[in-house]
Amino acid sequence: MELPLGDDPRSEVLRRLQVLLVQRFGHIERAAAAWRKPEWVLVQGVIGARTKSEISNAATERMLHRWGNWEKVADAPLEDLQTELVTQTYPNIASQRLKACLTALVERRGKVDLSHLAGMETGEAMDWLETLPGIGRKIAAGVMNASTLDRRAIVLDSHHTRILQRMGLVPPRASTARAFDAIMPAMPGEWSGADFDEHHLLMKKLGQTWCRPSAPDCATCPAQALCETGRMRHNPQP
Ligand code: SF4
Repeated sequence: MELPLGDDPRSEVLRRLQVLLVQRFGHIERAAAAWRKPEWVLVQGVIGARTKSEISNAATERMLHRWGNWEKVADAPLEDLQTELVTQTYPNIASQRLKACLTALVERRGKVDLSHLAGMETGEAMDWLETLPGIGRKIAAGVMNASTLDRRAIVLDSHHTRILQRMGLVPPRASTARAFDAIMPAMPGEWSGADFDEHHLLMKKLGQTWCRPSAPDCATCPAQALCETGRMRHNPQP
């Protein structure tokens, strides 16, 4: 996968949006180093469907503490994984996906080890990750960006994608992969991997507060002036 990066007219919208989001929510600290190992981020993503990050973080730590390493987690009986992942929204799916993903990694790499990704170009590494069971664009981007790999790959969850669609920055109803391909060329060229990470976490906060799935509160939203939907709802054309 080629990752086109560079300025386009949407880049300035994203820069201004970031300033407004930081003003409203403040800066967001990155996770501790132990939570930024690529393998840790992968596991957290695989078990995290429709579950709050804090809950998935705790479950990831719990498994590592109980089994000691990810190879032992891969070998653990499915029922034990299901019991450990009872806090997740979908414990059965989370445990099946985790076992399948870690087992495939052990088969391909001999152990649960993603160190080879450091030598790969970002798009190529994401393509490799997406061949693993249960890994889609969101988790692949998370491993490359939120981990110590620190690459410029934007993580799009449902909140972030919905806001981009409503703002008119990606096509309406775009899938995560399509939205990723559409927004990457607009990501400001000077933003670091850490800036990408903070931007995603701030967009998630916006999606949990003003730009909720139903009944977005455009009237008081900090992004209203930059948003196609917000402008239409509050300054409709005659
Ligand atoms: S103005 Fe409305 S649609 Fe646009 S980001 Fe804010 S809440 Fe969402």
